[in-house]
Amino acid sequence: MVVTALSSPPEERRLALVPSAVERLVKLGHEVRLPAGYGAPLHLADEAFAAAGARMLAPEGAADGAEIVLVVTPPEPEAVRGLAAGTFVVGFLDPFFSLPTVRALAEGGLRGMCVELMPRSTYAQKMDALSSQASLAGYAAVVLAAQRIDKVLPMMSTPAGTIAPARVFVLGVGVAGLQAIATAKRLGARVDAYDTRPVVAEQVRSLGARFVEFDLGGEQGQTEEGYAQALTEEQLARQRTQMAKVVSQSDVVITTAQVFGRPAPRLLDAAAIAGMKPGSVVVDLAAVSGGNVEGTVAGEEVVTDGGVRILGLHPLPASVARDASLMYAANLTFLIEHAWKDGAMRPAAEDGIVDAVLLTDDGAVRHEAVRARLEASA
Ligand code: NAD
Repeated sequence: MVVTALSSPPEERRLALVPSAVERLVKLGHEVRLPAGYGAPLHLADEAFAAAGARMLAPEGAADGAEIVLVVTPPEPEAVRGLAAGTFVVGFLDPFFSLPTVRALAEGGLRGMCVELMPRSTYAQKMDALSSQASLAGYAAVVLAAQRIDKVLPMMSTPAGTIAPARVFVLGVGVAGLQAIATAKRLGARVDAYDTRPVVAEQVRSLGARFVEFDLGGEQGQTEEGYAQALTEEQLARQRTQMAKVVSQSDVVITTAQVFGRPAPRLLDAAAIAGMKPGSVVVDLAAVSGGNVEGTVAGEEVVTDGGVRILGLHPLPASVARDASLMYAANLTFLIEHAWKDGAMRPAAEDGIVDAVLLTDDGAVRHEAVRARLEASA
């Protein structure tokens, strides 16, 4: 198959292909064509891609004739309108929120393969881009907080006195939260963590952090896929009230709470932020899906009147773009390796992974919940 990748928007420094992934695709028998300058966000020269086996073409026509188009972020509808029906568009497609893109994919007869829909199974782990990127986001959030806060994270004993360790509170302990806990612990912080899925308590403790428990009443747990069940408004209100004390004692709060397919739950309101010490830092990893924190602006740093910095983490900081690209390109390459057999894609009916990720096919949206969202928005 002919594989290409679309250049990302300027604020996004990650790439969907790096030279090692190109090499792998070429070994698998694919032809890789890329627009000249594709690697510029990471200072990767065209020669590096060419040496790996890619053909570097003038940007205008680079996607002509491509059968598989890789993306980092959902492409603008105009970017996919020129693609021939049947072309695969593979990558983060943000299916519940980038509805114009989903509509353009379906209307163009394109086959969107949406990596957010990857099953969270052990087998699929190497193709799981949500996990690879969330892990880096968890790390980046702590490093960013450490740079922006006005104190050190570890305890330090000096001749002039002892500095207490910073207190870090991680809210939401999925893949990103676990990496945030591990990173904050490595930097010597004292870490508390909370999640509505009680199953994570043991994982939190195994990283040396404290799992805080709140009584929210009613049911809380996880879906069959392992995602958090959405809380009721009443439960969320109880959670906010009970968390206020831990939040006020924390120097850094990192929020990562997501509920699949829905806007992020609002966990910290203005009153909770006002209760934090001046100079404290909140990093909201859910900023792009609405934010866990009142006042978050995706991609921006907001300083409250009380001197608390709220960082809406988006996109993934440039500081991790190289490794994030390496992981993401590997995830996509493994997906291609898994899904394509003898020059064609395995039929969805015969392969659970293809069936899960194939969002649009034959002019239709295959995922029921996304289809319903699209119909409701029409
Ligand atoms: P996510 O990004 O959907 O959500 C992040 C965390 O926020 C979750 O732990 C969720 O429980 C939590 N959350 C939601 N509402 C909350 C609230 N009100 N307060 C506090 N926390 C709240 O999660 P994810 O990182 O994508 O992980 C989803 C699931 O998939 C997890 O169970 C994870 O262990 C599992 N997973 C499994 C594999 C595998 O290979 N088996 C790989 C990756 C992820």
